[in-house]
Parts: sequence; structure tokens; C-alpha cells
Amino acid sequence: MDSNSRQIKQHNSRIKRGGEMEDKLLIKIALEAREKSYSPYSKFKVGAAVYTKSGKVFTGCNIESASYSPTICAERVAFTKCISEGYKDIEKIAVVGSDVKISFPCGVCRQFMVEFGEDIKVICAKSIDSYEIYTVKELLPHSFGPEDLQ
Ligand SMILES: [Zn+2]
Repeated sequence: MDSNSRQIKQHNSRIKRGGEMEDKLLIKIALEAREKSYSPYSKFKVGAAVYTKSGKVFTGCNIESASYSPTICAERVAFTKCISEGYKDIEKIAVVGSDVKISFPCGVCRQFMVEFGEDIKVICAKSIDSYEIYTVKELLPHSFGPEDLQ
């Protein structure tokens, strides 16, 4: 087990369902994930942490590419790690970008997230003590989702 897995295991054991502490802890995990950001071009580091209803945590950071378009956001990295490990029961995600002002998910990430539930809580933070919470539906009203293809 590497130190990152150990840290996440510690976080998992400390996370309690349904309280404010849990949101702050998820922000803290996202802040740690932000340190792993690979963003030599924008120099804008972003971290994200997904929490599932089954109590799992998956982290992500933004990863840029010299050819730009393959660049992927922290939110989608965290979501893809979560989904690819077999968890689709996403309850919330914390996102931390700038320390100066709250960063919100980009449009692509909002569309990516709505696929897995418009009621997912999105904790948009600039620090552990400064954040705003929205649902995906609030961030992406009148979205096009899986139900529209039925
Ligand atoms: Zn994005």
C-alpha cells in the first residue's frame, strides 16, 4: 500500500455520513489531490475528491498535455477512477482550484457529472472554510442526460 492509499484509507475511516465535517474533510482530500496536478502550461492546479454512497473516496487532479486538447480536468479524473473501479453511486464531489476565488466545474465536467446523477452534490471550494454547495442540476439546468435517449 503506498502512502496515498494509506492516506485515503485513513480518510475513509474518519468520514462520517451526512455532517458538515464530512464536506470539510472531502475538501481537505481534494486540496491534497491538487498537489498532484500536472499543469505546466496553465499553472492552474485543481484537485477533486469524489465520495460514494458506499463510503469510498476517489481523488483526481487536472492533467495537461502539450497538445492541449487531451487535457483532462480533476473532476473527470476523479469520476473516471470511481466509475472504472465499479462505483456509480456518487454522492458528492469536492473541487478546489484557486485559493483566491471559488472555482466551479467547467461545462464539460458538468455534462460528464450529470450522466451519473443530477442530485450529486458539488462542493466548490477555495479552502476548507470557504465553499459553496450546489447540485449538478443547479449547475447544469435543463441538461441533456441518459433519460433523453429513451
Ligand atoms: Zn472540467
